[in-house]
Amino acid sequence: MANSKYEYVKDFESDAKILPHTWIVVRIDGCHFHRFSADHMFEKPNDENALKLMNSCAVAMLQHFPDIVFAYGVSDEYSFVWRETTRFYQRRECKLLSLSVSYFTSVYVMRWKEFFPNKELKEPPYFDGRVVCYPRVKIVRDYLAWRQVDCHINNQYNTCFWMLVKSGKTEKEAHELLKGTLSKDKNELLFQQFDINYDKLPAMFRKGSCIFRDEVEETVKLDEGGNPVKRTRMKVTVDHIDIIGPKFWSERPYILKEDLK
Ligand code: ATP
Ligand code: ATP
Ligand code: MG
Ligand code: MG
Repeated sequence: MANSKYEYVKDFESDAKILPHTWIVVRIDGCHFHRFSADHMFEKPNDENALKLMNSCAVAMLQHFPDIVFAYGVSDEYSFVWRETTRFYQRRECKLLSLSVSYFTSVYVMRWKEFFPNKELKEPPYFDGRVVCYPRVKIVRDYLAWRQVDCHINNQYNTCFWMLVKSGKTEKEAHELLKGTLSKDKNELLFQQFDINYDKLPAMFRKGSCIFRDEVEETVKLDEGGNPVKRTRMKVTVDHIDIIGPKFWSERPYILKEDLK
């Protein structure tokens, strides 16, 4: 296209590139979801359908952007880990961030009806996002552990808080009662007052959601003898599992594999 005398305005654009050979984490978070969840009457402390909708959007992200190797979600947030070697849009930060946020948001709106067939969307959900890059796998794992610990702390607090409120306490009284309590005090409170064994609550609430590609065995056809012919393939999978300890990662070394070439 011919240059015009106005072309010089492009020189004002900045175009930050993410440091090469670093793991990229894009974290998105629902904007004003405290209000959004109230307006759409999410169940407290955990609306299962809302979490499943978030998970479904994250699965769509991994299917659409093959360089995302792992995602972790809790409440209204999701973190997406991009492989260190990604060349997606030459690692332009603006592209990575804006495309991630807008793709996720679009899928959220498109699939709303699937998860809430009896609830109209009353306002447009929207998400903020940030990009952080980490130079080593250890730090990526520590980042993910940080989010999962946060999930545990918040969920335990919120479970107590909402049980107290549902049992007739005001929100202020519930906060007062929980002030200064330790983790084991909260477990005790749930057990003594509400007969709830915290460890038996759904893993999705306690551990958040992990999305990754996992080996699955599938039957492709039956042979002449009627025996199944199986093949393994990588499938985008959702699980609610501990990612703080080494087990998950040592069983799946391919997820956060450093490029040693
Ligand atoms: P900000 O715009 O700063 O992110 P926010 O109102 O979204 O503010 P967050 O700290 O992100 O605040 O917290 C999200 C809030 O959304 C939670 O406190 C909770 O009230 C609500 N929420 C999100 N997901 C769910 C869910 N699945 N079930 C019930 N409530 C939820
Ligand atoms: P990129 O992903 O790099 O943005 P792109 O395919 O979106 O690539 P753009 O330079 O943004 O390319 O150009 C947008 C293209 O979308 C136009 O070239 C045109 O073909 C099409 N387009 C956008 N709006 C309209 C419209 N209202 N009517 C017809 N075509 C349109
Ligand atoms: Mg939020
Ligand atoms: Mg949040």
